[in-house]
Amino acid sequence: MTWQYSPSRREFLGSVAAFSLFPLEVEKPDLILHNANIFTVDATQARAQAVAIANGRFVAVGSNSEILNLAAPGIRKIDLSGKTVLPGFIDAHCHPGSSGVDMVISVNCDLPSIAAIQAALRERAAKTPAGEWVLGSKYDDTKGAEGRMLTRADLDAAVPDHPVAVMHRGGHTTFYNSTAFRMAKIDEKTPDPPGGKFDRDPATGKFTGRVADEARALVETFGADPTTRENRREGVKLISKAMAKAGITSVGDAGGTPEDLRAYQDARESGDLSFRVYCLIVYPQLDKMLAAGLRTGLGDDFVRVGACKLFADGSISERTARLSKPYEGTPDYFGLLMMSEEEQYQRTRKAHLAGWQVGTHANGDVAIDQTLRVYERLQRESPRHDPRFRLEHCTQVTDSLVARIKAIGAIPTPFSSYVYYHGEKMRFYGADRLKNMFAMRSFLDAGIPATQASDYTASPFEPMMALQSQVTRTDTKGNVWGANQRITLEQAIRVGTLNGAHASYEEKIKGSITAGKLADLVVLGRDPFKEDPSSLVTIPVERTMLNGRWSYES
Ligand SMILES: [Zn+2]
Repeated sequence: MTWQYSPSRREFLGSVAAFSLFPLEVEKPDLILHNANIFTVDATQARAQAVAIANGRFVAVGSNSEILNLAAPGIRKIDLSGKTVLPGFIDAHCHPGSSGVDMVISVNCDLPSIAAIQAALRERAAKTPAGEWVLGSKYDDTKGAEGRMLTRADLDAAVPDHPVAVMHRGGHTTFYNSTAFRMAKIDEKTPDPPGGKFDRDPATGKFTGRVADEARALVETFGADPTTRENRREGVKLISKAMAKAGITSVGDAGGTPEDLRAYQDARESGDLSFRVYCLIVYPQLDKMLAAGLRTGLGDDFVRVGACKLFADGSISERTARLSKPYEGTPDYFGLLMMSEEEQYQRTRKAHLAGWQVGTHANGDVAIDQTLRVYERLQRESPRHDPRFRLEHCTQVTDSLVARIKAIGAIPTPFSSYVYYHGEKMRFYGADRLKNMFAMRSFLDAGIPATQASDYTASPFEPMMALQSQVTRTDTKGNVWGANQRITLEQAIRVGTLNGAHASYEEKIKGSITAGKLADLVVLGRDPFKEDPSSLVTIPVERTMLNGRWSYES
């Protein structure tokens, strides 16, 4: 058994040394979970049967008899009937702030066909005042029954009189109708801005409706902002509840703003925050944060300021990531870089010198190489102790990139579920390139603490799907992509818990079931170690505990 002495008691004793005859004692537990099959992710004690919890922390972890011995009369004891318990999952890179508010203000376009999307948008338009946006989210161009991409004409046919914006679930492309372009005073003569693109029909030169990355700011210039303070708070409530149901207890919000920080705090105060959040702040908001004297680490166990977030290139699911070799089947399409190396250096430097952790979105090998050069240069010129540079996604690597990631101590946050969930997109990259994509085996073999990340909405956030995808490297149709990158279940669980805590400098307070750490855990319906790896995704999460309380019970 491992013990944790009450920190408050220890401080108290330290401050009154004259009374040091007080015996140290274990903090009195207020809850005991016993008769469980606990996989702790703590190397000093990998397996346990019971935990004692007090004031939101584990105070003792051990065998049934050891822990039950601590029970004072009347204490709450829960018999878990042999169920498997893991630490709460940490989704190191996802977008709960924006996806939460989407749940409040937009139409869910994760639907089986374009026709179904049209019907849903039409229904929303009927309830929307003229001239106001009709918004859609979670659209995926490769999953519709029609086998083709949504077009401007589809949107015009469904909603002719309102501006419409349907965002791809990857978050880097949006599809607009003609009214949206007209109201934004954009037409085919408008040039592509740096880091953005208006897709045009090759035959006619007309807009297809699909607009990538930075070009979207030229369309979304009018109308009232629906992301009100109350909508954001409500969004946090909905998304954190949904994530708790899946077994998630901590997230990194990789697209945070001061408004998101406020929403998390608002939701916490109203009792509606069901996870802990490390809120990365997007670079355009950095000046505001600096002016207020804020930096990475400020906050507490529930809401904390995370890294400064930059973008080096485009997306994998939407095929805009910047690759060194062309996308499969194209002679010369390599994807997009978001900024020059010098610009990236200047921005990163500003955050780095101000004491911020930096997390740079870099998918393709070209973008990862550029980002590492920037990090390496900064550590040469202005070294900081333990900067934990993050490489958000870090999808396509090479051996030399992996060596440089290790050398500088950077943390990749690869897409954990893409092989399983986005199998149909893997053909754009090809089997050969997939050997070095989402390269968990390469990272772990090199001793790099890569994390679990859904990038939700880009892929579903269910941690069981992440485990299955990383262990099997097999998609929903049974195709195997990059079998050389398979990792073990034990490794995948560690990646999804302790490594996530490390990415936010919180490995000493969470990420494993260890006495003294925050009492975050999940109770599973079946033991993943006894499960066929190809059905891990079907294991139900029965309960989730956050800070010593159930945040979800089935
Ligand atoms: Zn992201």
